[in-house]
Amino acid sequence: MQISCGIMKNQAKEVVDISKYLYERKLVSGKAGNVSLRFKSENGDIIAITPTLKSLGNLEEKDIVLVDIDGNVLSKGNPSSELDMHLAIYKKRKDVNGIAHTHSPFATGFAFSEKRIKRHDRFGKISAPYLEDLEYEAPGSENLAKKACEALEEEETLVLKDHGIIAIGKNLEEAAELVEFVEDIAKTQFISYMLNLSDEL
Ligand SMILES: [Zn+2]
Repeated sequence: MQISCGIMKNQAKEVVDISKYLYERKLVSGKAGNVSLRFKSENGDIIAITPTLKSLGNLEEKDIVLVDIDGNVLSKGNPSSELDMHLAIYKKRKDVNGIAHTHSPFATGFAFSEKRIKRHDRFGKISAPYLEDLEYEAPGSENLAKKACEALEEEETLVLKDHGIIAIGKNLEEAAELVEFVEDIAKTQFISYMLNLSDEL
């Protein structure tokens, strides 16, 4: 498949820049987390995704892996182990062109507990009191891909129990802002809970 070099370079740069943004804000660490974006080509949709087993803080444009919507790899390198989850979401949500998945500490702390992250007023289209949770499925599994895309049919964010969070947007920047925002509301909820426990202040 022929993809214009110019387009490819722009998309790869955006994935590198957003990955770095998430790493610098400590929303991802080590080799955890992955992001992707979708763009159109003459031959259909192309997904630019972060590679497996590399830190998001230290990527170069040549590290970004291009795949088609069926997961066929069109460039060098190996895509994130969560590729199937990204593809399933893109197939289900035609309006989504960016996905960010992190294990940010406060939101993931909630994911590993019985407590749920409260939904702030006017957060998304849904009025349920808490962000949607998905019961644990093994990272990288077919079941996780299937259940995550179903749960995101109406939602923009999803808490993956005992794992992390995922956010989607009409572009990658929007998805990245959303994982940052979810981390922030989880942190605020945690701090207010701790303060309410104390009689000292
Ligand atoms: Zn993960």
